[in-house]
Amino acid sequence: MQNPDFTAAHAASKTLDANDPLRDVAAQFTLPKGQIYLDGNSLGCMPKAALAAVGETMQNEWAQDLITSWNKAKWFDLPTAYGDILAPLIGADAGEVVISDTTSLNIYKAIFAGLSLRPDRHVIVAEASSFPTDLYMVEGVLASRTGLEMRLEQDGNILDLIDKDTAVVLLNHVDYRSGKICDVGKITRYAQQMGAVVIWDLCHSAGNMPIDLNKNNVDLAVGCTYKYLNGGPGSPAFNFAAKRHLTSIKQPLSGWWGHAQPFEFTTEFNADHSIRKFLCGTQPILSFRAMKAGLDIFSTLSITDIRAKSMALTSQFITLLAEFCPELELLSPRDAEKRGSQVSFAFHAAYPVVQALIERGVIGDFRMPNVMRFGFSPLYNSHADVASAVEIMHDILRNETWHAARFQTRAAVT
Ligand SMILES: *Cc1c(COP(=O)(O)O)cnc(C)c1O
Repeated sequence: MQNPDFTAAHAASKTLDANDPLRDVAAQFTLPKGQIYLDGNSLGCMPKAALAAVGETMQNEWAQDLITSWNKAKWFDLPTAYGDILAPLIGADAGEVVISDTTSLNIYKAIFAGLSLRPDRHVIVAEASSFPTDLYMVEGVLASRTGLEMRLEQDGNILDLIDKDTAVVLLNHVDYRSGKICDVGKITRYAQQMGAVVIWDLCHSAGNMPIDLNKNNVDLAVGCTYKYLNGGPGSPAFNFAAKRHLTSIKQPLSGWWGHAQPFEFTTEFNADHSIRKFLCGTQPILSFRAMKAGLDIFSTLSITDIRAKSMALTSQFITLLAEFCPELELLSPRDAEKRGSQVSFAFHAAYPVVQALIERGVIGDFRMPNVMRFGFSPLYNSHADVASAVEIMHDILRNETWHAARFQTRAAVT
């Protein structure tokens, strides 16, 4: 496009991209042609290495070696072996992270693990603004055991809800809608002073900012690998538990993969004393192989560079939209230090505008009730992407192309 008003923005982007220490990382991904993908906060792009990794696993380990691959290719160890690769990204040590199942299931396990550390307490504190599945899983916990109670923080201060009855506090590190960062150190310290255990949900922060679980003495955490970690659709999620808790904590999904001697095939369950106790049953090996390709990309990168670029991309987006599309109301913190790697705006016609953007190749998403959300991956998004996305947004709003009938019908997945 050639809107002369954007000449300066494009020139500035060129300089920023040329000086970006992560500028070559995008080449490790298959990026959709002709698109500006600003939805890595929902599903990260595909690492090129994932295709070969899954293909080789299918051809060699599955088709040829079949059952022997559980030993030969170490399939049985992947949840903890890959957990050890993920651990440094969240400030955890080897042996404290296990990858398996989904975030929703892992939240269920983590809540019971937290309750098992505080058997004399009965309150679970959570935020009303939480990603809904987190709250739904708390409901599931309440339905599974009598005598528990959920306290929901609405608009006040989460700290006010934590008292001597509080066993577990379940918090999103980065809010999925606004992108606001919650202070892990401050809240963990306060909750521990009150005798409670915090579970941090890292879905929207893992892979885009430094996370210091052990430095902050965190007890429990969960997160997914298909967002900023680029693990692939439905790639398995993770549980973190601090070493000091590994022998004592319990979780109720006592499947054979969490057994101390699974191949003894004993009648009674005897939980493993390592992080493996969070496992339940057989894991999706093909998804593990795809996910490993995503994790491997981080091994040569600096998380400080990643965070710096994330802040630069979101700041540029906010500044340009304020200049060119002032009718959009910023819902995310203006201060980059308080913001994750996504930016949200309220607009009365959010849904059709997002559809019009998608037709023009700018992929963001819509969240109820009137929110447009854009995620920025420091690994493959560029400053040029940001400038072009704003230019297209400006064009759609000025020409009101979002009014077209085809943009009004809501699809099943938004
Ligand atoms: C994405 C996300 C989830 C996803 O849960 P799944 O079980 O993987 O579908 C859960 N919690 C938060 C905070 C999320 O952002």
